[in-house]
This record gives sequence, C-alpha cells and structure tokens, in this order.
Amino acid sequence: MWKGFIAGLVVANAFEWVAHKYILHGTHRAGKPRYSPVPDSMKSHWEHHREVRKTTFHDHGYVEGWSNWRTKNEIVSLAVVAGVFGTLFYPVSKGMTLSVLYSAGNYYYIHRRAHLEPDWAMRKIPWHYDHHMNSNQDANWCVTKPWFDYILGTRVISSLDLQEQNPLGIALPHVVSNKLTQWVNQVFPAKWVQTPKAITLNSAQATEMVDR
Ligand SMILES: [Zn+2]
Ligand SMILES: [Zn+2]
Ligand SMILES: [Zn+2]
Repeated sequence: MWKGFIAGLVVANAFEWVAHKYILHGTHRAGKPRYSPVPDSMKSHWEHHREVRKTTFHDHGYVEGWSNWRTKNEIVSLAVVAGVFGTLFYPVSKGMTLSVLYSAGNYYYIHRRAHLEPDWAMRKIPWHYDHHMNSNQDANWCVTKPWFDYILGTRVISSLDLQEQNPLGIALPHVVSNKLTQWVNQVFPAKWVQTPKAITLNSAQATEMVDR
C-alpha cells in the first residue's frame, strides 16, 4: 500500500511536468501558434500566466471560483485526469490510486492557495513563483514539488530568496537538508538565471545564506 502510494506520488510529479509543458504551454512551432492536444486548457493556462504577471502573482479566477471558466477548466481537468489514472492504476495498486486522488486534490489546493497568497507561494513553492515571474516561463514545470525539474534539468532559480530549502521541497532538519542539497546539486544541478553572488563566498557562508 505505502510503496504504491509513494510510487504514485512520483508518477504524479512526472505527470505535472509533462502535462504542464506539453498540454498547458504547448509545443512551439515556427510561424504557427503553439500546438497542444487540449487547446482549451492551453488557452486557459496562458490567460492564467498573463493575469499573474499583471497582478504580482495574484489570480482573481480563484476568488471567483467555479464561475470563472479557467478555474472550472482546471477543476474539471484534474477530475478527468484523476478519474482516468485512478481507474487505470486500481488493478495494479490501490495505493497508487489513492495517491493519484490525493495528488489531484493537493495540486488544486496548492496552486489555488499560491495565487491567492503570493507570500505563501514564495515561501512554500518558490519554483512556481519562478515559473511565472522569470523572463523565461518555459521552465520550472512542477507545481507541488520540484522533483522532476531537478531530474530533467529544468529548475531555473532566479535568486537565493527563491531557492527551496532542498530539492525535495520538504522541510527537513538543516543538516539533512544541506547534505541532500549538496548531493543533488552534484548529480542534478539546478540552473540559475544569474550566477548568485553567494557562489563567490566560501561554502560555509553560502550554506548560511541558502539555509533558511
Ligand atoms: Zn505555466
Ligand atoms: Zn483578486
Ligand atoms: Zn500558476
């Protein structure tokens, strides 16, 4: 059960990455609009990006809730995805089905709260703040946890303030967190919009700055 649940969380994180990149942002085509297999969701998502950049990370669609077509599109899409994958995984692992349902609900909770409380977002999911506010919005695809952005080299950090405590995006004791960050950065280094000044500091100082 628990192995299935954890496996389901990993699959859901991979899905966040793939769906956000290929369905919500779409594939760039020279001289033509971007291609998405679900054009309505792509349209809704780019409208979300425009709104968020105009309003310092706020999205009024979440205040309006169900009456807002973009919010409705997100809820219905999550329900469809959870229904399809939850059913597919059921014969394989009930734990995976459970984690698919959890992940869909958690995605909505996190994404909605992030755009209602931008300060909370900067602390809890800084990778998503970077996703919207960096000049290149085609990076930082994961929303709830940054795992597959590290694995696939698409975590692009804009500033030390917006570097997560560690690549798991989970609060851990500082010693563990720092070790994990060092280890992951050797294997799957995060990219930076600009090389932070801290790089020129010694590692103890750098750790001090990063370790918040
Ligand atoms: Zn996006
Ligand atoms: Zn508002
Ligand atoms: Zn967003």
